[in-house]
Amino acid sequence: MVTAIGIMGGTFDPIHFGHLRAAEEVLQGFGLERVIFMPSGKPPHKPLSEVTDAEHRYMMTLLATVDHPHFEVSRIEIDRPGPSYTLDSLKELKKVFSSEKALYFITGLDAILEIHTWNGYRELFEIADFIAVTRPGYSMETLSSLEKAIGKECFSRIHPFPVTLLAISSRDIRRRVREGKSIRYLVPDPVMKYIEKERLYLSDAEKRVARSYSGGWLV
Ligand code: NAP
Repeated sequence: MVTAIGIMGGTFDPIHFGHLRAAEEVLQGFGLERVIFMPSGKPPHKPLSEVTDAEHRYMMTLLATVDHPHFEVSRIEIDRPGPSYTLDSLKELKKVFSSEKALYFITGLDAILEIHTWNGYRELFEIADFIAVTRPGYSMETLSSLEKAIGKECFSRIHPFPVTLLAISSRDIRRRVREGKSIRYLVPDPVMKYIEKERLYLSDAEKRVARSYSGGWLV
């Protein structure tokens, strides 16, 4: 019997309840066997200086998912040198899981809207289906413009999937940390504590100030 596995791709800088809730709803909605979170090592479309060290992002993803029986985290993009092209990762995963597992790549609708700019994008559709989860501010109608760009056949393998809309974004979380504001209830507690312990998302000057406090500063 062919079972299906979800691959949740993202920068996860940091992972938050929006990602986790989306994964949970896709897991159930598509009857997936499990969801494997795959943090990008070197996101091909972002300047490296703007992205937090991959080991920190991996660790936060692990902390956020460790208590879920059907969530796992993959290091393949962290460990592979060079830009993290999704095509390379899906080829690697296809070899691991053979044809007994159908692969569903899950990510935000706004990322999927750019899929025609990804490396070897046509080949992606030979390996996996794509689940585009909706984000606040993006309506499903925006997807129809993509059909023109990629053609009917590839487009038929994209599955828009509305999930409970949580207006949480990684960018907003990073901003709140920089401004010394609370991020409680936006990310799982262990992730909040990790960000605080490792003093992520602060400038060097802010890190020095944070060090001078003995108690928690995000809570
Ligand atoms: P991004 O530009 O950081 O994210 C685009 C939007 O989608 C953001 O609003 C983001 O929200 C949201 N998002 C990202 N991952 C999500 C997820 N798993 N579930 C729900 N929303 C999500 O895009 P990215 O995270 O770097 O890229 C998404 C995936 O596409 C990654 O796996 C990346 O490697 C892949 N990608 C591949 C190529 C290529 O192969 N050439 C190019 C671009 C992207 P948050 O900021 O809150 O996460």
